Amino acid sequence: MSGHFFDSKTVTTRKPHRCHGCGRTMPPGTTMLVCEGIGDCEHYRAYWCETCLEFEPQWTGDNNEIPEGGFRDEMPEEWEACRKVVEDAKETDQ
Ligand SMILES: [Zn+2]
Repeated sequence: MSGHFFDSKTVTTRKPHRCHGCGRTMPPGTTMLVCEGIGDCEHYRAYWCETCLEFEPQWTGDNNEIPEGGFRDEMPEEWEACRKVVEDAKETDQ
């Protein structure tokens, strides 16, 4: 996740936020990456969950045009496999 983003930082959310990659609304207390950037004509802010960050290198579409929820809608099997690795690993940690 770099290049076209204007700025990004990792936060622990204090409010529910919808992940741009998978379209899930993540509860408060989730670690997410916040990206702010300049699009063609507007400033935008997008939230990404850890699963989607891990999945992003596998995305075969255009990185500049990821539709909201597109990771899970368009590559559900690959995304789900990635989610298991990221989120199940976390559960064992805790
Ligand atoms: Zn996500």
